[in-house]
Amino acid sequence: MPTLRLANLIDGRLQAPRNDRWLDVFEPATGQVFAHCPDSAADDVADAVAAARQAAPGWATTPAEQRARLLHRLADLVEARMDEFVALESRDSGKPLVQARHLDIPRAVSNLRFFAATIMGWSSESHAMETGAINYTLRQPLGVVGCISPWNLPLYLFTWKIAPALAAGNTVVSKPSEITPCTAALLGELSIEAGFPPGVFNIVQGRGPTVGQAIVEHMAVKAVSFTGSTRTGAQIAAVAAPQFKKVSLELGGKNPAVVFEDADLSDANLDTIVRSGFANQGEICLCGSRLLVQRSIYETFRERYLARVKALHVGDPHESGSDLGALVSREHFDKVMGCIATAREEGGRILCGGEAVTVAGRCASGWFIAPTVIDGLGSDAVTNQHEIFGPVVSLIPFEDEAEALAIANGTGYGLAASVWTRDLSRAHRFAAQLDVGIVWTNCWLLRDLRTPFGGTKQSGLGREGGAEALRFFTEPKNICIRY
Ligand code: NAD
Repeated sequence: MPTLRLANLIDGRLQAPRNDRWLDVFEPATGQVFAHCPDSAADDVADAVAAARQAAPGWATTPAEQRARLLHRLADLVEARMDEFVALESRDSGKPLVQARHLDIPRAVSNLRFFAATIMGWSSESHAMETGAINYTLRQPLGVVGCISPWNLPLYLFTWKIAPALAAGNTVVSKPSEITPCTAALLGELSIEAGFPPGVFNIVQGRGPTVGQAIVEHMAVKAVSFTGSTRTGAQIAAVAAPQFKKVSLELGGKNPAVVFEDADLSDANLDTIVRSGFANQGEICLCGSRLLVQRSIYETFRERYLARVKALHVGDPHESGSDLGALVSREHFDKVMGCIATAREEGGRILCGGEAVTVAGRCASGWFIAPTVIDGLGSDAVTNQHEIFGPVVSLIPFEDEAEALAIANGTGYGLAASVWTRDLSRAHRFAAQLDVGIVWTNCWLLRDLRTPFGGTKQSGLGREGGAEALRFFTEPKNICIRY
C-alpha cells in the first residue's frame, strides 16, 4: 500500500508545510511507516492564526443555527465514511478495529452532534435587581482559540475540543498528536466539503515543541484547550500565564478502582473492572491502574480477576477476537516495559503478563505487551504513584474505608475513580471524600456528555463537557441597565 501524505488545513485549503519537512507515521501493529505527516513550524502556525483572525468576526456573527448545521453536516460526512475512519484510527494507534468502531469514531460523531445541539439550547443568565435594574450576561466568543490533543483517543479527543470551540463561535487553530495525525487530517478534508468558511477551522500538523508551543505562544490565540501529559500541561501553563491566556488542561491520572467486600461482583461487573484497567491497552487517562481490594475478599477476588485477565487476547488489531492491540509507539512500548522492570525491582510480584508479546504474521514487529497484573507493592511505591498509561494494573489490599480513602487519595493525581459497593451510604460518603473530578459508582466510563469532565491536582485545571466547555470558550460580559 502506498504511504499516505497528510496535509495541513489552513484558510480552507490543504497545504504542505512551508519547510516541506515530514514526519514518519508508524503503524504500531507492524512497526512500519505508513504515512507522512507535516513537520510544520511556527510560520505555518502564523499562517493559520492569520486565517483564523480574518475569519473570526464573520464566524462569531454567524447564527448559532448555521454553526450547528455545519457541525451536523460534518458528523454526517464522518458517518458516511465510518469504515474508512475506523480502519485509519486502528491502523494509526494500534487499537483493535472493534474499539475504533464501537467507541472512538461513534463518540467523535456524538461530540460534533452534541455541541451542535447544545449551542442551540444554550442561554445565559439575567439578574434582576429590586431597585430597578436588570443585569444580563453576554457570553461572547473569544476569537481565535488553540486546541491540542493527544494520541490515545485521537479523533474522539480532537472533536471533544474543536466542536465546542466552533459551536461557541470561535475560529480554531488545532494540532492533533503527531503520533496519530491521520483521522484529524481526514476530518479536516471533510470540513471543506461540509462548507465551513475558510479560516474557521485550521489544522497544523507537527510536533509539540514546535507547532504546539507556537500555538500557545501566539498573542492572537486567546485560549488553549489541551489534553495530554502532566509535564506538557505544566509547560503550557507556564507559557500561557504571562499573557493571562485562558487554559483548560486535561492531564494524566493514576486512578483508583476501589472494590469493597460488599460489592456485587457478578460476571458482568467483574468484566467491567477488567475493562477499566485494560481497555485500549490501558491507554485511557480514565483507566483504573490501581485496583484497591478489601482484604477480606482479596484472595478470592484476585483469583477470579486474574483468570479473566489471562483470558484477554492480545493480537492483530484487525482480528475481531483481539481484546488488546499494540501500544502506540516504540517509545511508549519501551516506557511501559521500563515501568514493569521498575515494579520488579521494587519487589512487586508479576501475577500475569510482564512481557512483550510476539504476534505472528504481519504483526511480528509490532509493539505488543501482555496485560500485566502486579501485587505486593505499597501505596508509596513508584509503580503505584506514577502514571504508566499501559496494560498494567497494580493490586493493593486495604482493611477498611479509611485506609481505602487514604490510598485512593495518596497520589499527586486526581482525575477519576471507580467505587464498587452495594452500600448506598458508603457510596455517597466515599465519593464525596475522593480528591478527583469524576467518580463512577458500580460502573466505569459511563459518559453523559453534559457532565463536567476533568481532574484535580496534577490531573489538570478546568472542566470540559456540556456547558462547562461552552463557558470556557466564551467570555462573559455583564451588562447592567437601570430603568
Ligand atoms: P503529550 O503531552 O506528550 O502530548 C499531547 C499533545 O501536546 C500532542 O499533540 C503533543 O504534540 C503536544 N505537545 C507536546 N509538547 C508540547 C508543548 N511544549 N507545547 C504545546 N503542545 C505540546 O501527551 P501524549 O503522550 O500525547 O498523551 C498521553 C497523556 O495524555 C497521558 O498522560 C494521559 O493521561 C493524558 N490524557 C489525559 C486525558 C484527560 O482527559 N485528562 C485524556 C487523554 C490523555
